[in-house]
Amino acid sequence: MKFYVTFGVQYAREPHPVNAGFHPDGVLEIGAKDIETARSLAFSLLGRKWSMIHREDEMEDSWHFYPRGITHRLEGLQIVLVPKHTGGNAEDCARCDQLPPLPYPWICPGEPVVEPS
Ligand SMILES: [Zn+2]
Repeated sequence: MKFYVTFGVQYAREPHPVNAGFHPDGVLEIGAKDIETARSLAFSLLGRKWSMIHREDEMEDSWHFYPRGITHRLEGLQIVLVPKHTGGNAEDCARCDQLPPLPYPWICPGEPVVEPS
């Protein structure tokens, strides 16, 4: 199952101590067998420096709160940067490659415009 870790609004102003890329407008994706496992991974990696953890189905109506989307993913115990959409031809976009296939004509949606907070 996939879980999404969110970050407090202070990390819009100050760098997150574990990963400066963490931001309240984005989430960290953790794959785990259940939410308890995901939560203990979050605690072991981030201490208390995170806000909430959500199941994938809980996020369906909430993605608009996180306009940067999934910015990072936990692979093993490594936090990896999720590539940004490049716009243009989806076949040339590393992020589109990781998502379910787009319908014809395969245009990458590009990155959402994030209003400065
Ligand atoms: Zn793309």
